[in-house]
Amino acid sequence: MESPGDGLARCLLPDQGLLCGLGTWGRRLLLLSIPLIAMLSVSLSFWRRRGRSTRGTRKPPIGLVNQGATCYLNSILQCLFFTPEFRKAVLELELPAAQPALCRDHGESSLVTQLQRLFLDLQDAQAPVTTRAITRCLGLRNVYEQQDVLECFQTLLTRMAVEKVELRQAFQMLTERVIQCQVCKDETRLEEARLFLMVTVLPGPEESVCSVAEAVQALFRKEQVTGDNQYFCEMCDRKEDASSELCLRALPSVLVIFLERFTFYRGAFWKLKNKVTVSEKLILPFPEKNCYNLFAVCHHFGDLTGGHYVADIMSFEKRCWYRFSDDHVEEIQPGPSESSTAYLLMYRRESLGPTT
Ligand SMILES: [Zn+2]
Repeated sequence: MESPGDGLARCLLPDQGLLCGLGTWGRRLLLLSIPLIAMLSVSLSFWRRRGRSTRGTRKPPIGLVNQGATCYLNSILQCLFFTPEFRKAVLELELPAAQPALCRDHGESSLVTQLQRLFLDLQDAQAPVTTRAITRCLGLRNVYEQQDVLECFQTLLTRMAVEKVELRQAFQMLTERVIQCQVCKDETRLEEARLFLMVTVLPGPEESVCSVAEAVQALFRKEQVTGDNQYFCEMCDRKEDASSELCLRALPSVLVIFLERFTFYRGAFWKLKNKVTVSEKLILPFPEKNCYNLFAVCHHFGDLTGGHYVADIMSFEKRCWYRFSDDHVEEIQPGPSESSTAYLLMYRRESLGPTT
């Protein structure tokens, strides 16, 4: 007996028109709905390991203790720790002395201070490090409730930026959507500061595997807004066909990409488990071609009712890849580029040069 998800996967995945037909606005609604997934995702069901342990002699980095179901937090914290620009920014901050008593009793303290302490611990500790101070600062009272790593990333960056706005800097990009009415040619420009790009992961023609590089290019392709998605033109004072194009106005140092694996269909959430080619290099079309290199992949194993997050990260210090599964860290060979579990990807701008 197949699960409802299997049936959906068969009927949903080959039919690209089903989701593409939602149009830009439909996809935005889906994006807005993603945080709700966190409420549905509980308890570990299963997870698989990708990559082969090399059992090398190099000592792996230190892992993080899972407090219950905090693998999503551990995964994103390790990704941030191994983002050179972000780690440097956190460690160089001059902060007032922390107030651990206040944090313990009221869940209120400086998240940035706690993050700096955590990063120092990850540099120096000999055993897995706890994230209790971070979860208290974030107000996460139920550590047994798994949350979505996208929501966690947004929360961390937003909360930290309240204290130190410069901590967003490495990830921040500026985009502009240009919508042009096809009748009067009037243009509307919508500027937006973003911390990440969200791309669809539907299969390509004849169910070929979707590539992240192609999906990113598709984001910046001019599309026609017609039919039910017609644009309301204020000059024409009615809905008209329009063109819509997303343009980059400022590039980030670190490009964060989320794969739109969680979607809403016929009154329910689903997870798309199709394979995606995780491109090692990405080209962003601004102002001329800019190259980005992959250095971190967060995987989500499982489905909406249960799952586990791990992070595969290239250590810029040791120049090799590790898999971080909470307190267990092992060196891996760079895995196959096709993945049905990759969910969050981090790329670093090549023109920044090597890290030290
Ligand atoms: Zn018009």
